Amino acid sequence: MRIEQMEQYAKENNIPIIEKESIEYINKYISDNNIKTIIEIGSAIGYSAIKMALVRDDIKVVTFERDELRYEEAIKNIKEMGLENRIEVLNIDALDTNIYDKFDMLFIDGAKSQYINFFNKYKNNINDNGVIIADNLKFHGLVSKYDEITSRNVRGIVKKITSFVDFLKENNEYYTEFVDVGDGISISKKKPQ
Ligand code: MG
Repeated sequence: MRIEQMEQYAKENNIPIIEKESIEYINKYISDNNIKTIIEIGSAIGYSAIKMALVRDDIKVVTFERDELRYEEAIKNIKEMGLENRIEVLNIDALDTNIYDKFDMLFIDGAKSQYINFFNKYKNNINDNGVIIADNLKFHGLVSKYDEITSRNVRGIVKKITSFVDFLKENNEYYTEFVDVGDGISISKKKPQ
């Protein structure tokens, strides 16, 4: 089956795809909350977009992937799954464009250093009763092991993720639940005015 081939491809090519238990958790959320429209930042090879679209056949996904090779792979996978009418992949940096539609859910899974910017830019594209979910808040377990990280680049990313978590905790506009599933996800909803 295509899904398993995608998992294998991601493993062989070192492409980070969402952990199984995280996508299962998110899909249950989509199902329980009758989410119909999703905007995703960071398609990679289309794995999570496909998994989310398969929850129900009335779900539509718009997803950004700035890397051309990953974008091509996502397009191919989505086509093979027959989901090209329900998943639109855009080969562009989400911060370099504007989308005017409103969605039920924003899923942030792109460049880890840009999470606050993604959140602030796309929060207005989410319906008032919608949700903003972000993945990799533990960054493969490294967020809790900051002192052991030797790579300056990795330290930089971990710092940015920690800032994003603080940004969510201190946010006056959104209430966030942190879920310790997979690599750690956040689920943010707008507070009632
Ligand atoms: Mg991820």
